[in-house]
Amino acid sequence: MAAGRDRPGPLVPPGGWPWDPAGPQTPVAGSAAEVASLARKAATLGELVARQSVCRACPRLVAWREEVAIVRRRSFRDERYWGRPIPGWGSPRPRLLIVGLAPAAHGGNRTGRIFTGDRSGDFLFASLYRCGWAEKPTSVAMNDGQRLLGARMAAAVRCAPPDNKPEPAERDTCAPWLLAELRLIAAHLRVIVCLGGFAWQAIWPVLGRGGFALPRPRPSFGHGAEVRLENPQATGGVLLIGCYHPSQQNTFTGRVTPAMLDAIFARARACAGPETGEPIT
Ligand code: SF4
Repeated sequence: MAAGRDRPGPLVPPGGWPWDPAGPQTPVAGSAAEVASLARKAATLGELVARQSVCRACPRLVAWREEVAIVRRRSFRDERYWGRPIPGWGSPRPRLLIVGLAPAAHGGNRTGRIFTGDRSGDFLFASLYRCGWAEKPTSVAMNDGQRLLGARMAAAVRCAPPDNKPEPAERDTCAPWLLAELRLIAAHLRVIVCLGGFAWQAIWPVLGRGGFALPRPRPSFGHGAEVRLENPQATGGVLLIGCYHPSQQNTFTGRVTPAMLDAIFARARACAGPETGEPIT
């Protein structure tokens, strides 16, 4: 099978991307079974992220992400689009994990970094900066110097879906990537913030397979909803917090305001414990 990183070859900038976790030897998942196998066998976060970034297991999403990357939006016509899955990004030892829905067609799918290069990301990063989770108030490109401070971001579905609507089978196919990432960071994790109901729904089976004891019935999603879970890899547990997604629709209508996001990430900071002093991205 052609490597995912090679498929939209004409889009790769001269000299390559400023950051590309995958190399020529990175195995490419082409099916749900291969995602599960490659995710489970990834021994390190670096290996996992590389494998995520070249995955081709969902034909509909692969076709869409690459078509968008070739056609492009008029305002970005002179840019090279990433056009690949968006891997997890941030600290390798995070106290906070932020889980989103899926990358935006002209945001993450363009820039190669989650929540980067679109209005949702502008809204989110401004709040993360105000609350001490990000180095800078904006995230616009993979080489912009932005860093997450003790935090990490991941999407429940790592390829941009048409109309921002992944299908249940695509969510399930992608879930082992999130599970493997969770296992590799769980020893450090204190708080998980789910952005939107889709991420809230997607995280439960992943937590269950990761050995977290789940409450029954499953708590409903809401802005500020909280559930404390035992962490199989660390004492003190993990606090799961629901947060309305900072989508353009939600922010334009005032359903989500900067103050509301700040309250969530300030709460996450209060519950995440002391700094470990390692702002690594
Ligand atoms: S959505 Fe996930 S499983 Fe499907 S192709 Fe993208 S990275 Fe692979």
